[in-house]
Amino acid sequence: MTKIGFIGLGNMGLHMVRNLLAAGHELKVFDLAEATVAAAAEAGASPAGSVAEAAKGVEVVISMVPAGKHVKAVYLGDQGVIANADAGALLVDCSTIDVATAREVSAAAADAGFEMLDAPVSGGVGGAEAGTLTFMVGGSPEAFARVSPLLEIMGKNIIHAGGPGNGEAAKICNNMMLAISMIGASEIFALGRRLGLEDQTLFDVASTSSARCWSIDTYCPVPGPVPTSPANRDYEGGFAAALMLKDVLLSQEAAQDVGLDTPLGAHAAEIYTKFADKGHANMDFSAIFKMLNGDL
Ligand code: NAD
Repeated sequence: MTKIGFIGLGNMGLHMVRNLLAAGHELKVFDLAEATVAAAAEAGASPAGSVAEAAKGVEVVISMVPAGKHVKAVYLGDQGVIANADAGALLVDCSTIDVATAREVSAAAADAGFEMLDAPVSGGVGGAEAGTLTFMVGGSPEAFARVSPLLEIMGKNIIHAGGPGNGEAAKICNNMMLAISMIGASEIFALGRRLGLEDQTLFDVASTSSARCWSIDTYCPVPGPVPTSPANRDYEGGFAAALMLKDVLLSQEAAQDVGLDTPLGAHAAEIYTKFADKGHANMDFSAIFKMLNGDL
């Protein structure tokens, strides 16, 4: 049994907390939203009144908050995790944030004598609930070995990506490719329709030929060929376009920081920005097909 402080009980965090509790761990939890703290308490966690309180008296602190500024607010300053955690506590941030902030906060933790890992996830809310997330982890091999048994409760694939910030780097690279490939998949179905191809026929070819990719064979953006894809439920649920836009913008921030031109990533960011500006940010990101097909 490990004593864990968990901060950030939103769509992802609350499910992760439930899975850790079900595995027999002891959790102290905090979120700015009281309702989510109450929901975690109902599942057996002890509510904490602040970040500082959640960080005290535990062996591991895990956070799952929206963006880099929230991670800074949680970890830095007098009331933050670093100033209040017990000596020897392991700090693990699972939020998807920019690489630079992940490295900055990890360095502040190291200066105060703490091991810190960035461990963003993929797999969405469904994966968080089922305990099948993929974790991409940046930090020392020793800290990775220490946290792995906990991550294995919440996830299925746990990958050590290298030193501090590398978990975020891996996540951002993966999702930049996903943003691009979903646009490519959508464009071929839109073009195929205009050339007289049935969606199913193009799917049968593309999913078994050199165009094959996750955006076609698992998450097909047109209804029909893959019954489980969000296209079959009017693009509801799944991975919101707002989150895809967030991730592809993070990839562009990172590319700019290292002086690399990523023209397709940049164009994908423009296309998802346009989609969000039209008011569709809450739809699944594969609904980009509808915009590219002229339906939105
Ligand atoms: P969410 O907005 O549902 O939850 C975030 C929670 O953090 C909120 O409850 C908020 O009140 C809390 N919070 C913010 N600042 C805080 C602070 N200073 N102290 C305490 N609590 C604070 O977000 P989510 O969907 O759970 O996503 C969390 C992270 O996981 C994000 O970085 C997101 O990009 C990433 N992610 C989400 C998904 C997904 O499908 N939802 C998939 C993969 C990765």
